[in-house]
Amino acid sequence: MSYQYLLFDSDRTLLDFNSSQRAAVKKTFEKYGISVNEEVQDFYNSWNNSLWDRLEKGEITHDELLHMRFPVVCTRYNVNYPGYGKMETDYILNLSEGHELMPGALKTVKALYGKYRLYIITNGLPMVQAKRLKDSGLEAFMDGVFISDEIGYSKPEIRYFEEVYQRIGCPDKNKILIIGDSMSADIKGGVDFGVDTVLVSKADNPTEGYDYSPTAVVKNISEIPDFLAALAKEK
Ligand SMILES: [Mg+2]
Repeated sequence: MSYQYLLFDSDRTLLDFNSSQRAAVKKTFEKYGISVNEEVQDFYNSWNNSLWDRLEKGEITHDELLHMRFPVVCTRYNVNYPGYGKMETDYILNLSEGHELMPGALKTVKALYGKYRLYIITNGLPMVQAKRLKDSGLEAFMDGVFISDEIGYSKPEIRYFEEVYQRIGCPDKNKILIIGDSMSADIKGGVDFGVDTVLVSKADNPTEGYDYSPTAVVKNISEIPDFLAALAKEK
C-alpha cells in the first residue's frame, strides 16, 4: 500500500513526553512544598497514567481528569491542596515549556516532508501541545495539528478520528497511516476507524494481551521512512 497521509501521535512518538513531565512535576510540586525524588516521580507517573487509561476507556472526561490529578498527590505527600486551578495552571505552564524530541524524530519528519501529507493527532490541551509542537520545530513540517480538546473528542474515540478525517479532506482510507506508541489510543483508534497503523515500541511483545493489533511494529520512529519506501517498492 502506498500511503499518502501520515497521522503521527506526538507524545512518546515524536516528543519526549517523559522528560517534559519530569521537569514539570519537579518545578510544580516543589513550589507547593513537595520535595521531588524518584518515588514522587514514579507515583505521579503511574497515577497520571491510570487517569489517562480511564479517559481512553471513556470512564472519565478530560475535565474530570484535570480535577482528579493533584488532590490525590497533595494528600499523599501531606501538603494542603490549594484548590482547583492553582497547581493545575502551574503544571500546565511548566509542561508547555518541555519540548524535547524523541531520538531521530525531527530527522524522520524532515525526510518525509514534501513526500507525504503529515499531521499530528494528539490528546491534550491546545495551549500545552501547540506550544510544545511549535517550540520543538515539528509544527513547521506539519500540514495540520489535531488536538483532542480542540476537536471535542479524544483518541481512541471514533468521533475524534471522524473529525480528523473530515479536516484532512476525506481521502481514501487506504491512503492513511496512523503512527503512534499507544496500543489503547493510537492503534485501537486506527483499527476501529478502519485505517492501517504502525506501533512504535521497544517492548518485546508490545501487542500481547490486546484483541486487536497494528499493521506493523517498529522499534524506533527513525525506521518509518525505510518502512514506507519498502512498501512503495512492493507495489
Ligand atoms: Mg503517545
